Amino acid sequence: MVNTRDIEKYGLLRERLCLDFTNTSDAHPSLPDGEFFKSYYSLVEWAVYAGAVSHAQADTLIAGAETHPDKAGAALKNAITVRDTVYRILSAAAAHQHPKPADMQAFNHMLLKAMTHLRLSTVDEHFAWTYTQADADLEAMLWPVLWSASELLTSHDLRYLRECASEDCSWLFLDTSKNHSRRWCSMTLCGNRAKARTHYHRARKGG
Ligand SMILES: [Zn+2]
Repeated sequence: MVNTRDIEKYGLLRERLCLDFTNTSDAHPSLPDGEFFKSYYSLVEWAVYAGAVSHAQADTLIAGAETHPDKAGAALKNAITVRDTVYRILSAAAAHQHPKPADMQAFNHMLLKAMTHLRLSTVDEHFAWTYTQADADLEAMLWPVLWSASELLTSHDLRYLRECASEDCSWLFLDTSKNHSRRWCSMTLCGNRAKARTHYHRARKGG
């Protein structure tokens, strides 16, 4: 069973699923602690906390990964490729630049694969989007992420997309603050750190 008590360590901003997904890597991927997806298990764990899969799905995915470790390894590798591609497209959009054609081509390929699992279903008295094979396919957590990214990219909220102003953080967030003056992914994670750094430099200069 996935432990839900460690939610804090994932630093989920919970603005958009695709942003939480791209924020699983730091600006320095070479740092051992800058990578959250160190194993297939950590990918599933993240997906549960982020709301990409249910607990029941997660248990089935973990069981599937134990039976097919090679497939789990491939799924983990693909998840990182998806994340880095989505990040490059969103980061370019945040900087008002065009994404690279190769990234768009890769994204559309991934999206098409994900959308083959999308179904319109009846849930109680309503209709809802669901995914087929969502607990059998080890890459199932990537489908809602790709859908979330395509939704954000075509929404009006895209104009609020920002990259953290901290020099050692590349997290993405939506600046929906009143004056649209938010600079950091989070005040706790980067804002206070940046302030502390400014104070340190001022103190050192004697200012
Ligand atoms: Zn940050």
